[in-house]
Amino acid sequence: MTGNFDIIIIGGGILGTSISYFLSHLNKSKKIAVLEQESRVAVHTSGRNTGKVHAPYLYNPEKKKLFAKAAFHGFEMLEEYSKIKDLPFKKDGVIEVALDEKGVKVLEKYLKWGKQNGLEDKDIEFFDKKEMKKMEPEIKCESALYVYKDGSTDYSIFTNSIMEDSKKKGVEFLLGSKVTEIKKGNDQWEITINQKKKIKTKFLINAAGGESINIAHDVGIAKSFTDVHFRGEYWRVPKEFHNLTKASVYSVPEFPDYPFLDPHWIIRVDGSCEIGPNAVPVFSPYGYDSVENIKEFIPKIIEMFSSGARKAIFDKQFQELAINEIQSSVSKTAMINRVKRFLPKIDSEKITEKGTAGIRSSVIDENGKFVPDVILIDGEKSFHILNYNSPGATGALPFAAHVINHLNKNKFIENEFSDAQCGPWKFSKIIEKLEK
Ligand SMILES: Cc1cc2nc3c(=O)[nH]c(=O)nc-3n(C[C@H](O)[C@H](O)[C@H](O)COP(=O)(O)OP(=O)(O)OC[C@H]3O[C@@H](n4cnc5c(N)ncnc54)[C@H](O)[C@@H]3O)c2cc1C
Repeated sequence: MTGNFDIIIIGGGILGTSISYFLSHLNKSKKIAVLEQESRVAVHTSGRNTGKVHAPYLYNPEKKKLFAKAAFHGFEMLEEYSKIKDLPFKKDGVIEVALDEKGVKVLEKYLKWGKQNGLEDKDIEFFDKKEMKKMEPEIKCESALYVYKDGSTDYSIFTNSIMEDSKKKGVEFLLGSKVTEIKKGNDQWEITINQKKKIKTKFLINAAGGESINIAHDVGIAKSFTDVHFRGEYWRVPKEFHNLTKASVYSVPEFPDYPFLDPHWIIRVDGSCEIGPNAVPVFSPYGYDSVENIKEFIPKIIEMFSSGARKAIFDKQFQELAINEIQSSVSKTAMINRVKRFLPKIDSEKITEKGTAGIRSSVIDENGKFVPDVILIDGEKSFHILNYNSPGATGALPFAAHVINHLNKNKFIENEFSDAQCGPWKFSKIIEKLEK
């Protein structure tokens, strides 16, 4: 395989695929390709998550404004697209519970953030213990937020549909194509695929999820950052418990400074129920099993000790969290008990089947601190999206539009059409809403 492209996107997850979708609508004659190492899109995080379409109540509007806006508008776009294409989507709500007085204060803050991020009174409501008991008799809590504007979907099905739309507009999806080397040639990038085939591109977009840091490092960017991988495991719950609640239930996180939540009670879009995810430290973005983790153990440990991650490892709170999460991986009962605190009827003996685990790659800076937000870096003829974590799937469509608008405004990629109808949405309208 050889080829010359105008734009190459590395990563056929929900983000890379959504970027290709908008690029294909704004450009007719540019040659655009998505390189994905797997034989399908959405094989990793985008196809291994909780499947929630999140209302933006967990995100500080000052610190995570773009993510909160992307989630807010992403919800509406996903709902609209799913309706047109007849894809699974349910506006089934989520309940966030507080188990003590400290948690109640956090819920009050979430309610305020939710409203600041655009939710209306009809979308989110505060309930005390008694009121909650009437609505959801099986839930035990001090108080709760009922977030009506929260939904469920299947992000793998969605990503595949967006890929088909992009292909119809001329984007090439080179599946089974692992980028193994990137070299700067004369005014172009020379990319080696699967260690032998070469292709060239004028511009490179790095949307490689758990490997985006490595790709950035390969082109000499983001050297002060490193990442740590956390495996989120799930347990499938037998049918007899499926009607315990009417909505999914999340609890106020015990460690709010870390980029993941405590295990939830999940009602998936197909009506099945699961418990999860935890966040177990692993050594690879593909560390689903011990074979891959053993293989990557030594290189990752060396990398961590020679970077800011060293400081995080010696942090007492991080150690406490890691032990807690590892316990909930080794012991099913320890994991289920974290949900039993607010759903006492759950019986771990009856839960025997594991769900599909997904891996979150969180970026750590040189001071050993977890970076709370997405990191966007302009490189020379390249653009890098790092730390694209939750609720990344919810906000993928508007976020992709934002990336393209940024690249166009800064003349990295000059779109052939300044505005276009991109499926059901006018491009300029998406940007207008994000910037409001
Ligand atoms: C446990 C868990 C639960 C979550 N739940 C939710 C949720 O309920 N709602 C929500 O909105 N968000 C959720 N998220 C977050 C969301 O899933 C992610 O933000 C999103 O999927 C990231 O998409 P992505 O395209 O950036 O990454 P990915 O889906 O990981 O895609 C990156 C792609 O790049 C490819 N790639 C990497 N390196 C190379 C290479 N060298 N060559 C070729 N291809 C390469 C990979 O194979 C992969 O397919 C969850 C995340 C986790 C971990």
